[in-house]
Amino acid sequence: MQQTPIGAIANQYILKEEQSSAHNYHPLPVVIKRAESIFMWDVEGNRYFDFLSGYSSVNQGHCHPAIVSRCIQQVQELTLTSRAFHHHLLGSYSAYITSLFGYDKVLPMNTGVEAVETAIKLCRKWAYEKKAIPSNKAKIIVCEGNFHGRTSGVISFSTDEDATRNFGPFLPGFIPIPYNDMEALEKALFDPNIAGFLIEPIQGEAGVVVPTDGYLHNAAKLCRDKQVLLLADEIQTGLGRTGKRLACDHENVRPDILILGKALSGGLLPVSAVLADNEIMLTLKPGQHGSTYGGNPLACAVAMAALEVIEKENLAANANERGIQLRTEINKINSPHIKLARGKGLLNAIVIEHPDSDAAWNLCIEMKNRGLLAKPTHGDKIRLAPPLVISAVQMEEAIAIIHDSLPILNYS
Ligand code: PLP
Repeated sequence: MQQTPIGAIANQYILKEEQSSAHNYHPLPVVIKRAESIFMWDVEGNRYFDFLSGYSSVNQGHCHPAIVSRCIQQVQELTLTSRAFHHHLLGSYSAYITSLFGYDKVLPMNTGVEAVETAIKLCRKWAYEKKAIPSNKAKIIVCEGNFHGRTSGVISFSTDEDATRNFGPFLPGFIPIPYNDMEALEKALFDPNIAGFLIEPIQGEAGVVVPTDGYLHNAAKLCRDKQVLLLADEIQTGLGRTGKRLACDHENVRPDILILGKALSGGLLPVSAVLADNEIMLTLKPGQHGSTYGGNPLACAVAMAALEVIEKENLAANANERGIQLRTEINKINSPHIKLARGKGLLNAIVIEHPDSDAAWNLCIEMKNRGLLAKPTHGDKIRLAPPLVISAVQMEEAIAIIHDSLPILNYS
């Protein structure tokens, strides 16, 4: 594994962190102190293009002034009531987000995985109370290679050994099928106790796996025919990231349960949401589900500002154009080490071809040394996902860094 010259100041921070913070991540050796728009600066003052965007949380760019100023205003006035009392922002936030996405109701949560858990509970509740599936028999179809978060419930249907080893026993009721496989879905749907199909429209953590055109559309139709709910996890793919407001919009699919997170706050605080129509959402009654922080006034104010930025600044359209630019230019690079570049909008990955299993990591270190931060996922893939506010000229500069870094892989 390639070592990088780490500055003395950065090294101190890293050592301190390693001493007292759990070792559940393997970050690049860089210590960030400040960020603005598409750039981040480390403790030594070096500037980097951010090509991860907090795993697609800062679609609007770091510290977007409109979101930050709304946050500051709200944080000085009212931050948390809990849902034991009403507050004056939940109604306007709910009206805004439901009308933007076209659903009857929203259920506000905090982290992405909590929203996925909420969607699963909601789907099961609907299955027993509306579809009349016998008690405790409801099943949800999921996809191999999925990533929906880290709770015990959600890892119960992960097919990634790292995510599951020694964390059992697991929650039953999930049927994994291969991703992008219509036949497998059709077969699984024969079971009358299937309540839902949970899917990422593009599998982000798996390495930006884009399904065949028409897959999502046909899957939605099959589910509808079998009275099975389509649960779309758009936590990473949503909010402009793939070049449309939602990745499902590419195929004119309207999920029965829509799950959002990450960029819903533009990176300021954990804000997630589950959207559905009354027939589904109103199966939940007072006391049956909730969260102390879910729907808090600060989150409502910030989420409204974050959504407004995505809409007003046409970020989905820019993601689409800059994504085309990125993939076109990367595909022109004549390197034996890039197997392919794939993605939609600004959710992209390059797949590295190299005999050394650390090659993707080594390339990321070289790009870091040249001023661009990206992270390998699943060994040989590097996600390229900058904030959606990146300009054509800035993208050109970033592509040049990627291009100039590739010779580091000229070893065997
Ligand atoms: N679902 C998807 C598709 C994700 O990409 C992620 C996070 O990367 C999650 C769920 C979990 O979100 P969080 O880390 O906020 O719990």
